[in-house]
Formats: sequence, structure tokens, C-alpha cells
Amino acid sequence: MLADPQDTIVALSSAPGPGGRAIVRLSGASSVAVARAVFDCIEPVTADRLRLFTGYCRLPDVAAPLPADLYVWSAPRSYTGQQLAELHTLSCPPLVDLLVAQLLAVGARAAQPGEFTLRAFLAGKLDLTRAEAVLAVIEAGTRGELRQALTQLTGGIARPLQELRSQLLDLLADIEAGLDFAEEDIQFADSRDLLKRLSKGLALVTLLRKQLDQRSLGDRPFRVVLAGRPNAGKSSLFNVLGDGLQALVSALPGTTRDYLVKPLDRPGARIELVDTAGWQKTNGAMSEQAQTLGREQAEMADLILLCLEAGQQLNETERTLLRQTEPPVVGVSTKCDLGAALPGFLRTSAVTGDGLEVLRDVLAERARSHARPALAPSLARCRHHVDSCVQSLRIAHHAVLFEEPPEIVAMELRATLDQLGEMVGAVYTDDLLDRIFSRFCIGK
Ligand code: GDP
Repeated sequence: MLADPQDTIVALSSAPGPGGRAIVRLSGASSVAVARAVFDCIEPVTADRLRLFTGYCRLPDVAAPLPADLYVWSAPRSYTGQQLAELHTLSCPPLVDLLVAQLLAVGARAAQPGEFTLRAFLAGKLDLTRAEAVLAVIEAGTRGELRQALTQLTGGIARPLQELRSQLLDLLADIEAGLDFAEEDIQFADSRDLLKRLSKGLALVTLLRKQLDQRSLGDRPFRVVLAGRPNAGKSSLFNVLGDGLQALVSALPGTTRDYLVKPLDRPGARIELVDTAGWQKTNGAMSEQAQTLGREQAEMADLILLCLEAGQQLNETERTLLRQTEPPVVGVSTKCDLGAALPGFLRTSAVTGDGLEVLRDVLAERARSHARPALAPSLARCRHHVDSCVQSLRIAHHAVLFEEPPEIVAMELRATLDQLGEMVGAVYTDDLLDRIFSRFCIGK
């Protein structure tokens, strides 16, 4: 159950702990009245427009007045669309606790996680994709994540959606008008026009789907390094596992002198496979260099695939590597068409193709869970709706093409609009809002 959006809520909205400035935020019709109960200044505090008042807070059991600024925003020109007040004071944790306690005592309610942003959404200040982007901006751990979250916050998803919704609404209006006047000889859109407009809609959602996939990939591919003894079958596995160029395969141990990189793309996972030189006693500058490169690649890896030929036993180096957790190591038995896999190792054969799909799935899953950008939950939610849109628009297109009843086209268009509505939050349930906003921290 969502809390009453009309209550006046309070929370510390700056980072907790000692610091230069603490920001205690209030939102709701009594924000200024509540703040005034603890805040004093020489000029009269009014709430008719954005104003800054400089004064001090009086707190029980604190002898000296606490220097403070009070910022006031009038409704609806505030973040939440409601009357909003912020008390800025010294970030001294016991004083801030006292201040919040005092504001609660005079009538405010403690804000729930994300409740300020939830109110901004309910007031129509942000659609759901932008509200989720607020959270992603706060949580962004890298510049790339921040850039993506800011793109979404400034309407990167919402803007194309608005365009699509309005085009589809026009289209639905024309089809429904046609249904209303079915007895008469009036045509609001002929099938050629309908097909053109549906194709345009399909192209837009397909593009959006691609953008969502792109954004969920993180900054760089998930790097999987194949490691193991010379002749273990690494290059052969590398060749059959990914897409693109081939590594040199030879029965002579130590053939892979350099390292090779090739992509392995899966939905929502961008992987880079790296084939390195096998470990062996170095014999000459060339192979020494290859060994160094291999070690460097292993250090840069997000995951190591330790390849061991079927029927062989682990040596000490391999046993040590398997115990390593950073980066994690997955054991792969190679050449399983010739012998039994080592227990706990994934069985594969580059010759028969056995186990390759399982290995690709394992890598994709590792890659997805490794790169969970801050926007991931929002993107997953949007992807689900966009997929349903693609499906409905395809059915509608097919129905027009094969001259099926226009009611089917109208029904599929309505389904598409419902999905788009849910995506931006024009249609929502309390459960959905609860799920999204409970991920926020208190005060945001
Ligand atoms: P690397 O040195 O670890 O890169 O090993 P390679 O991929 O160059 O393979 C070494 C040898 O094993 C080559 O002769 C390959 O043809 C052979 N080989 C590789 N994978 C398989 C496999 O799955 N089955 C069989 N039977 N032979 C394989």
C-alpha cells in the first residue's frame, strides 16, 4: 500500500555523517508551517515563491541556536509539485537527528524510500523511466553508467515513446472512426496508409529495443580469457565458440604466440573471448613475450576458462588457479570426444560441438550478472513492455496485410498503447510503484 501522498513528509536528503551541510527536506501542504516550528529568522517567512531565508533552528536541550538556511518552493513549481521546504544546517549527526525528531514531533511524517521522487512522478513532473533514471544517477558507479542514466533522465527513452504513443493514438482513432462508420462508405485510412503507419511504429519500437539492449551492456565487453597448457585445445575452442576470425590451430605445442580476441554476443551480454599462449617453460624471446602477454591477459580477465584435455589430471599450477576467486575461474574439459571430462569441469569438444551451447550460456549468464549497470532494473522493465509492443504491432500489421477484420487491428493497437502507458507510468498499479520506489534511499 502506498503511503498517503498528501502527508507532509520529512527526511535527511544529503549524505548522512559529519560534513559541511546537512539538507533536511520537507514536502506537503504544511511543509513551511512545520519548518517554521523550529526555524526563526528576522523577516517573515512566506511560501508564495522560491525564497531563501537565513536564520537559525531552535532545538530542545540545545542551548545555542543552530545557524540554518530555509529554502521554500511553492506548489506546483517544486520537485514534488507540492509545497517544499529544505532546512540547510551543519551536518552534525546528533543535531540532525534532533532536528528531524523535532520536525516529526510537530506534525511531519518520516518519508519512505523514494517518496519525494514518487510524488514528483504522481504530480506528472517525471515519467517512470525518468524517475528510475534519478535512482540510476544516484547509484552510477562509473562515468559510462552516469552518462546513460543522465541520457534517460533527460528523456532518452521518454521522448521517442511520446512520439510513438501519439502516432499510434492517431492511428487507433482513425481505425475506430472507420469501425463507427462501417455501414457508410467513408474511409479514414486505406490499408496502404495503415501498413505504412504500422511499419513506422514497428521500426520505432525495434530501434528502441536495440537501444535498450545497447544500454544494458555496460561500458566494455565481459572479457573471458582461455588459459591452460599448450595443446589443451584452447585455440580450437576459441574458434568454435565465438563469432569472427579464427585462431591458428596446430598439433605443435606453443603455436599461439600472440593473443587473439573475438566477440561472442548474446542478448544482454557482450563478451570478448581472448586466446592466449599456453603455459610452458619459455624457450626464447618470442615465446617469453607470448607468455607475458598471456599472463597480462589473465590479469585483465573478468573470467578465466581453464582448459584441460579430457583424460588428463590437474597439475599444481592449475589447482592453484582453480582456487582463485578474482577473477573467477571456470574449468572446461576439452576434447571430450576422446575421453572423459574431469569431475566439476564443463565437458566440451571442438570437433563434435558437444557442450558448446551450454558453455556459451554459462558465459552469457556470468557476463549479465557481472555488468549490472545502475539502470538495469529500469531497462529490464522497459524491455519487457517493448517486446510486447513489437509482438502486438506485428499481429496488427499481419491483420491489415491479410485483410483480417479491423477490430483485430484496433485490439492490438490498444494492447500496444497499454504497454507503452505502463512503461512511462501513464498506467500503473500501486505494486509497480512500490517495487520501483522502494529501491531508492530515504530522502530521495
Ligand atoms: P592450444 O595449443 O591449447 O590452442 O590447442 P589447439 O586448439 O591448437 O589444439 C591442439 C590439438 O588438439 C590440435 O591438433 C587440434 O586439432 C586438437 N584438438 C583441439 N580440440 C579438439 C577436440 O575437441 N577434439 C579432438 N579430437 N581434437 C582436438
